[in-house]
Amino acid sequence: MQENPEDKILRERLLPGQLSPKGFLGTDERPVEEIIAADQAEVEAAGLTTRQLGEFLEEIHKAADQGWESTVSLYDGKITARSLEVNGKIPCPFGCGAKCHKAVIEVNFCGKKLQFTPLDAHMIQEHGFFEGKGSDYRLAPKDIIELYNCAK
Ligand SMILES: [Zn+2]
Repeated sequence: MQENPEDKILRERLLPGQLSPKGFLGTDERPVEEIIAADQAEVEAAGLTTRQLGEFLEEIHKAADQGWESTVSLYDGKITARSLEVNGKIPCPFGCGAKCHKAVIEVNFCGKKLQFTPLDAHMIQEHGFFEGKGSDYRLAPKDIIELYNCAK
């Protein structure tokens, strides 16, 4: 399958470069469309949508921001979250115009821990993109589904 020009531009933005020194694709060589489709199928098999998961992460992000750098308790104490290193903004590599805070949100839930960035929340919500396999900030859909089910 030939990549269309838009996909090519997107792939270049997702590779290591100006936006992110490590890029968003890790060692994943699949076309971006295929990465998104595979993750979407996994989320839908769990009865959820990527938009729902992204909105949920955005909720955690907003609550963590309110706490500045201290830990906040959410969903009846089932989850705690803390925002670290707020430092400028990064534009969305999908070129939608969104700019997200460069921060890391640390979440503790059901005896586990995960980290995500506001950009991850945005990309999952709006573009169904969890990053490529092997990328430092890739979020496995199964982990986000677990977090979601722990909270709700
Ligand atoms: Zn975007």
